[in-house]
Amino acid sequence: MMQRTIRNTVDTRGVGIHSGNSVTLTLAPAGSDEGVGFIREDLNARLRVPAHFSRVRNTQLATTLTDDGVSIATVEHLTASLLALGVDNVTIALSGPEVPILDGSAEPFVSLIRSAGISEGSAPRKGARIVGPITVTSGDCRAELRPGPDHLHLDYTIVYENPHIGTQRFSFDLTADAFAREVAPARTFGLFNDINGMYAQGLALGGSLENAVVIGDDGVMNPEGLRFDDECVRHKCLDAIGDLSLFGMPILGDFIAYKSGHRLNHLLVQELFRQQAYEIIPL
Ligand SMILES: [Zn+2]
Repeated sequence: MMQRTIRNTVDTRGVGIHSGNSVTLTLAPAGSDEGVGFIREDLNARLRVPAHFSRVRNTQLATTLTDDGVSIATVEHLTASLLALGVDNVTIALSGPEVPILDGSAEPFVSLIRSAGISEGSAPRKGARIVGPITVTSGDCRAELRPGPDHLHLDYTIVYENPHIGTQRFSFDLTADAFAREVAPARTFGLFNDINGMYAQGLALGGSLENAVVIGDDGVMNPEGLRFDDECVRHKCLDAIGDLSLFGMPILGDFIAYKSGHRLNHLLVQELFRQQAYEIIPL
């Protein structure tokens, strides 16, 4: 299998969920071994910030990359979509500090990438096969990678005190079709009672019922309801795929998460690299 990029340049526009800024996002083809990288067109800097775990500086509610003072927030739904659709190399230009949230899911990114088409290069594609177990924990939260199949398999459990979320578990094999059908449409979610606290921290300023599932004391507040009964845990899988995509190449093995989130997922990727518990194989 050869590395892949997109065939045509495509763009879209929307607000950042945390910053509230309106942003234009452009995806452009990139060469073999360039990987996924971000350019902030609103800054004079032409620095290309790699979508790589070594650039992660903030994991509060979303994953933010920072390189030499240039930041790109909320990258995970887009980088998850690129990984799932097998796009290795692409340059993402943004006119502001945050990837637009669009409808809160990865479905618009999947459509955008598919509309651009896929083009194969001449350099071989590689993946990281897990050879040893890696576990990171924080309190009763846990994330693990174990040797497994020749693709990424996810098994995710969330436990919320809110009875309208409760305990949900979802597992699936990461393929382009399964991602597009079962995970990409799952929207980001939040508790109504947390919103004022997020505003006070300058977060969720662009959030609305148009781009997030909001759960109040009486249940889901969005008039259209949920897209899946277990939409919340499916969205956590989407976030995890985005965080794991920052390893820089596809991870092949079992990912098991219990009450994990961006911070723990990021620590797991760091630990995978630190312990070198993988072998690089051709795909
Ligand atoms: Zn998310």
